[in-house]
Amino acid sequence: MKKHYIGVDVGGTKIQANLVADDGAVLANNRQDTPRGGESEVSVNAIEESIRTLLYENNLTIKDIGGIGIAVPGLVVPETGYVVVTPNMNLSGVELGKILKKRLGISVAVGNDCNLGTLGEFRYGSGRGAKSVVGIFVGTGIGSGIVIDGKVIGGAACSAGEIGHIVARIPVKNWTKFLNNDKVDLSEMLTKKAPKCGCGNRGCFEALASRTAIERMIREGLASGVKSVIKDIDNDTVIKSGALLRALKANDALVTAVMRYASYVIGCGCLTVRHLLDPEVIVLGGGVIEACHKFMLPLIDEVVQSDQLASAKSNRRITVAELGDNAVAVGAAALRLIED
Ligand SMILES: [Zn+2]
Repeated sequence: MKKHYIGVDVGGTKIQANLVADDGAVLANNRQDTPRGGESEVSVNAIEESIRTLLYENNLTIKDIGGIGIAVPGLVVPETGYVVVTPNMNLSGVELGKILKKRLGISVAVGNDCNLGTLGEFRYGSGRGAKSVVGIFVGTGIGSGIVIDGKVIGGAACSAGEIGHIVARIPVKNWTKFLNNDKVDLSEMLTKKAPKCGCGNRGCFEALASRTAIERMIREGLASGVKSVIKDIDNDTVIKSGALLRALKANDALVTAVMRYASYVIGCGCLTVRHLLDPEVIVLGGGVIEACHKFMLPLIDEVVQSDQLASAKSNRRITVAELGDNAVAVGAAALRLIED
């Protein structure tokens, strides 16, 4: 029998365990709600439960499995499976790899979700065949990952590939402030004009072009009296990617303007990635891109094509992710496959 692998995508709202063949095909999956609050133990139990249920539902035992990979939304040390921090859920400080290995009797690899989403696209999605792939996922935030020659690039402290937090709008005031005053400190030099990011810094790509940023700009437009099909939203209402697409299809002036802006910002992000890493493929994914890529991709391409810095001709490209919701779990399984 062919070997099967399990990849688990642990998200803030759901845990999805995929049964994956060694060619990347998803054979079955099990979805559960992520437990809200409580001790980290509750979340670890839910991950274990999703794996055991997947096995049970497919008449398999752990002996039929070649390996398990787990993707978590946070900072992970892949070598040890230690979760340093997960800002939106309670797995911070958990030895997730070691605990699950002990409970399940099989080695368990753990990685960051966006890194593994990129790895999934690299092995089985729109980046297959390329030597280097950068994934940029535009949703509530902007996540990303870097895969070169099949390896996820983690950096010195497992923090590389946070393209969403590259500072795109420099929040430092004009140089003239320094004239006749060499004692100005950093806090005096920072302007509040650059939007604040979820990470705490100002001017990140995520603060300018994520779904959260798009929502903020739409609210600004509505508050200043611009008419839109999106109206009557209170502060708690989330403007989902599907609503953005419907507004674009209705030629809504406000949403069209905001989405053009966000697309150009993402285009500048792609350009920055080009100049830093020059990957063969930049894969764009996440809820906003999945819903609105027909509108956004030509605008993103327009910015990248406008690059004035000459480079050698090559087959590099910018493309839309293929694996959708499965990318992260498939990438988690691929992490296991690669290590075999
Ligand atoms: Zn940030």
